[in-house]
Amino acid sequence: MTYKKILAAVDLTDEAAQVLNQADQTAKQNGAELSLIVVVKPINQVYSGFDVAALAADAALIEADAVRQAESRLVEHAKALGIPAKRTFVGRGNPAHEIREMASELDVDLIILGTHGRHGLGLLLGSTATGVLHGCPCDVLTVRIK
Ligand code: AMP
Repeated sequence: MTYKKILAAVDLTDEAAQVLNQADQTAKQNGAELSLIVVVKPINQVYSGFDVAALAADAALIEADAVRQAESRLVEHAKALGIPAKRTFVGRGNPAHEIREMASELDVDLIILGTHGRHGLGLLLGSTATGVLHGCPCDVLTVRIK
């Protein structure tokens, strides 16, 4: 099967390079259009377990700043691969859900993301990869993060 449109999910950690390299290679091998997404989690998800009531007033500002930083870092990654900024997307919410939604919206035929095998089910799959697979509209390639 040849893929025409690929969406790579990157979390902007140091490990993102491994996902980006694989996505770049796969896109080139298939002659596919590559788009990138990062999802910024709501502050109450990031700090779950803590009492975040005191932060509530600032939460929107903190999240907006996180989105701006995510956008600019994603665009840097995209530029390095020759991907135009218009094919970079910043979601807000649950990463697996937002990745699937964007895959549907862009009508991609392949999602590429990393897997650590360190969360829950994940001797094989990380939590985001597991979540993406549930009800996924297309094929999924998981890159084993080393
Ligand atoms: P994890 O669930 O932390 O093991 O992450 C596995 C992979 O899911 C990462 O290597 C990324 O490809 C993707 N991923 C995790 N979190 C995000 C996020 N917030 N935005 C986009 N992709 C993500």
